[in-house]
Amino acid sequence: MAPAYVVHYSEVALKGKNRPEFVRVLRRNIARSLSGLAPEVELREGRFVVNAAGTTQEVTARLRRTFGIAWFSEVTPVGLDFGTIRRAVLDAARTSSGRTFKVEPRRSDKGYPLTSRDLAVRLGAAVQEETGMKVDLTNPEVVIRVDVTKSNAFVYSNKTPGPGGLPVGTAGRVLHLFSGGIDSPVAAWLLMKRGCVPVYLHFYLAPTPRNALDSKVTKQVKVLSSYGGKSTLILIPFAEYQLATAEGPGDLEPSLFRRFMRMTAEALAPALGAVAVSTGDSLSQAASQTLWNLASFDHGSSLPILRPLLAYDKDEIIGMARRISTYDLSLEEYKDCCAIITRHPRTRVKSDLVDEYVRRLRLPELVQTVLDQGTLVSYNPVGDVLKSSNLAESMPRACAVGPKADL
Ligand code: ATP
Ligand code: MG
Repeated sequence: MAPAYVVHYSEVALKGKNRPEFVRVLRRNIARSLSGLAPEVELREGRFVVNAAGTTQEVTARLRRTFGIAWFSEVTPVGLDFGTIRRAVLDAARTSSGRTFKVEPRRSDKGYPLTSRDLAVRLGAAVQEETGMKVDLTNPEVVIRVDVTKSNAFVYSNKTPGPGGLPVGTAGRVLHLFSGGIDSPVAAWLLMKRGCVPVYLHFYLAPTPRNALDSKVTKQVKVLSSYGGKSTLILIPFAEYQLATAEGPGDLEPSLFRRFMRMTAEALAPALGAVAVSTGDSLSQAASQTLWNLASFDHGSSLPILRPLLAYDKDEIIGMARRISTYDLSLEEYKDCCAIITRHPRTRVKSDLVDEYVRRLRLPELVQTVLDQGTLVSYNPVGDVLKSSNLAESMPRACAVGPKADL
């Protein structure tokens, strides 16, 4: 029989009444992550049995990015009679290079004529006799697992960790402020790890979205799509904002711009069905991220503001960025990044003062202006563009509370 994969979930199993929904979404996500490889994903007695046409390397790489998976193994499904299981166990022992071993049987079919203990004792004795390997129950070099289900047994000695977390799509949609820097991609990844679907919102200064579309911003969203499935990127130009606020107070500029980004996100959220706004802020990493300045960002928000990186050090964030493969892209040059620079930003901006300039500079009207100039692009899990259009066309009621956009 062709190799298959046994995929185990952990935390999702603990979710009580919601469990069937978590399992359903995880099953869909596994199938999506293996798209193009003719995947078959079958739920069997508390685990998934997955068949896919790709190489082990390819399937493994994709499963390692599917949140909700605790661990998985490439397995050879064998028949249920003891002689067949014994042969498969001996094969697994012989192909391993260990000197000590343990057999770990698990029966999800409790009607099987041998108990787990019977299986462990008889299979252990066979391995010892045929290979000379020694039993070590506490610290074995090789663990040979035997899963007995109703229709098959699975024998395997490899175990690959999955990314853990919860299946993407079980925790709601979040509008994520995405800069192209080091932090915001990691923050998006952490949100996905807890089941959220981020919709990426990027503000750019260039006259057209081309520069942003050809930049690391798009490349990063594509990498993140390999963890989260289909993704949507919304690009908003802020040249009009800059023109309109040119006379504003210089030391308030970063706070005002960040408030403007938040207001734009809030205006878009209802039409997208987003229930929160998120950022890559880390407490006190920059002047714009002091507790006072974060408070002035949040002031008056109708939505919760999520900051998954709040308590992480830069080194820790860089470590995560490397592991999830966004770090090198973050270092690529992209001129728009540092468009709003102030030499001496205030570290304790008063919320009331920001409110006052929001009114004086008519930011709510500017929000509508920039939304009308936005672009929406969506990607599939392997990063192909599914749709690219003017935001006003795809979401004509972006600022009104309208029906949830179909992304
Ligand atoms: P990052 O590495 O995510 O850019 P940073 O340390 O450079 O973070 P800032 O540039 O102050 O910090 O940005 C803080 C947060 O504000 C970002 O993580 C992101 O959520 C949001 N942000 C900043 N610039 C933009 C932008 N041009 N478009 C959308 N969001 C932005
Ligand atoms: Mg930045």
